[in-house]
Amino acid sequence: MTKTFQIAVFEGDGIGPEIMAPTVDLLSALAKASDAYELTFHTVNAGAQHYADTGVSLPARSLETARKADAILLSAMGLPSIRYPDGTEISPQIELRKALHLFAGVRPVRITPGQPTPLKLADDKIVDFVLIRESTEGLFYSQGSRDVRGDEAYETLRITRDTSEKLFRFALKLAQQRKTKGRGPGRVTCVDKANVFSAFAFFREIFDAEAAKYPDLTADHAYVDATALWMVEKPWTFDVMVTENMFGDILSDLGAGLMGGLGLAPSADIGEHHALFQPCHGSAPDIAGQGLANPFAMILSAAMMLDWLGEQHGVAAMCADAARLQAAVDEAIRTRDTVTRDLGGTASTKGAVAALSGKLL
Ligand code: ATP
Repeated sequence: MTKTFQIAVFEGDGIGPEIMAPTVDLLSALAKASDAYELTFHTVNAGAQHYADTGVSLPARSLETARKADAILLSAMGLPSIRYPDGTEISPQIELRKALHLFAGVRPVRITPGQPTPLKLADDKIVDFVLIRESTEGLFYSQGSRDVRGDEAYETLRITRDTSEKLFRFALKLAQQRKTKGRGPGRVTCVDKANVFSAFAFFREIFDAEAAKYPDLTADHAYVDATALWMVEKPWTFDVMVTENMFGDILSDLGAGLMGGLGLAPSADIGEHHALFQPCHGSAPDIAGQGLANPFAMILSAAMMLDWLGEQHGVAAMCADAARLQAAVDEAIRTRDTVTRDLGGTASTKGAVAALSGKLL
């Protein structure tokens, strides 16, 4: 029986629409070729340009469409030249994370053969780990509420038991899934700074209590500073890492750096009832409108969406298509066949996706 899924599409700013359009075409073609699932796309307004045009960055109707959708596909958003009156950038993606309680920011870090990593890796060292960044509280909690008292400025770091328990359960279940698929040893590392901050000692206590319920997994801890070092020195030792919002923000860019840049880094923001999939990079206004944008981070995010929907709804064909999509991108990176300029190729954004399409359909 065919299952139909409603997908809310935010095209974004800058290169956002350029990488989204061919991705939606490719997903539509994959769905059309399958009798197991159908995808219906609903394009909605939001972003910096929309704010400049209308004074609203995330219209209520767009949020409602996102809330009703089975999944949300979001491209790069925000433009440095368009800001709120207080000088901060327009970021509806952060509003969506809060409104839909998307607490688990999933940032996979994979280095496949041929990837332009700055690391020198021996052939037997496989880098394939997932960083999970709490995305609704931590040091981002007081974002938007300016607290400057004369010559002093304050932010609030908030860790709650409820969100932390959900976050750790998510991380532990992901490690179990990866273990079942042979992609990891079943290890979850809680990344914190529990030696200095009581909020992180609290975070760690909650982690230990949750992890104790998963005797099939190994649970350990690492301080965030040491983690930054080890991500460079021995990244193949990690499986699933789970951390606070600000630490995760910084470490996920380090992860993207290990992968050879933002053009190859996908992400997902997942809650108990909603999930959003988005490339890690920004809207790259310096190359917008030129057909130079690498679409692979967007496509890999779309593959994560297919896999998540497939797992949630028991549609094996969607998980299989996600794996095929990922393998096609890996192959293009390995052979440097029809890739964009940032990967040393000469292909346009559309050309790079057309080549994947040719292999898959
Ligand atoms: P943000 O703060 O919104 O995440 P950023 O400051 O990290 O944005 P990006 O917009 O991600 O900046 O761009 C950083 C650099 O990476 C730019 O030189 C941009 O051209 C390049 N870049 C980003 N995404 C891509 C892509 N998909 N393809 C090619 N180059 C990219």
